[in-house]
Amino acid sequence: MSSDDVRLADLPLREDLRGRTPYGAPQLEVPVRLNTNENPFPPPGELVEDVTAAVREAAADLHRYPDRDAVELRRDLAGYLSGATGVPLSERNLWAANGSNEILQQLLQAFGGTGRTALGFEPSYSMHPIIAAGTRTEWLPAPRRPDFTLDAARAAEIVTERGPDVVFVTSPNNPTGGSIPLSELEPVLRAAPGIVVVDEAYAEFSAQPSAVRLLEDYPAKLVVSRTMSKAFAFAGGRVGYLAAAPAIVDALQLVRLPYHLSVMTQAAARAALRHAGATLASVARLAAERDRVVEALRGLGFAPVPSDANFVLFGLFADAPVSWRSYVDNGVLIRDVGIEGHLRVTIGTPEENDAFLAASKEVPR
Ligand code: PMP
Repeated sequence: MSSDDVRLADLPLREDLRGRTPYGAPQLEVPVRLNTNENPFPPPGELVEDVTAAVREAAADLHRYPDRDAVELRRDLAGYLSGATGVPLSERNLWAANGSNEILQQLLQAFGGTGRTALGFEPSYSMHPIIAAGTRTEWLPAPRRPDFTLDAARAAEIVTERGPDVVFVTSPNNPTGGSIPLSELEPVLRAAPGIVVVDEAYAEFSAQPSAVRLLEDYPAKLVVSRTMSKAFAFAGGRVGYLAAAPAIVDALQLVRLPYHLSVMTQAAARAALRHAGATLASVARLAAERDRVVEALRGLGFAPVPSDANFVLFGLFADAPVSWRSYVDNGVLIRDVGIEGHLRVTIGTPEENDAFLAASKEVPR
């Protein structure tokens, strides 16, 4: 018997994982890839040089484990986030991990788990229920309005009724694009008996203020999760982070693997942060491109959902999977997020967006 003869179904896998499918957007080789909400502009040359020099220097220490607590990286992230939000933060308020997905997993390892629940307003980021399943946290789906906005009063009622240990609020919401104003977040925070995670992966693209401003008022409940994968053009570097009370950081230290952030990751992220100004200059360009794409889609008779992120959910399609395939055949990879009649496009470079709009004229509706 060769190792290829062993089938997944034959393994003593946890019963609750049987039959599940892994997260994953198709990674297809097509000319225009607008499916994973990355920043389409490559990092500036000075950043590439600085990251290279920082990693070269770090390589001299590769025989040693990294700083287990990533203190300097957390200090730099605190500096960036304080500057961006106007809220004073120190490294004690910051925690970092390999992408915000790992941050979210650590949060559910610490605050979810067997016998506990996590609630999210759907449709939203599909990894939230997947991470809940992986950590054996029962997932409680709650609705949004038919136009995908969050009804804050209703959301607070549901949170009161269900009493979840963890609530996820994604703002701007992926895949629908809208943000929640802080005045509407507060009723949810007041109602929540446990932790509220505001997933701000796309915050830099939004005009709404960050929930970081509410940390002072809800220190025992609120966690704001962010990432360098989107606006920061650092998706390949794998760094996400959170801002919260220092006690929440202490809680995550109980579940994190030691030395989870490599010497190279820490050095590269710190170098990339030194160029935040140059990288984030693309945010305004992308927001302008997003508005152009939305207008053009409207002009073509589509119904785009209002977005303040770097992607747009749009419809209506009689058969979204068929139309998705037709986009691929036209050389454009976008995302079928499983919302009936809709597809999601990431905002790319002006040329990529033009290719997407040209394909939009060809696909069946
Ligand atoms: N949160 C949201 C809402 C996202 O869309 C994503 C990426 N698709 C993430 C978190 C995780 O991203 P990363 O692990 O790269 O930080």
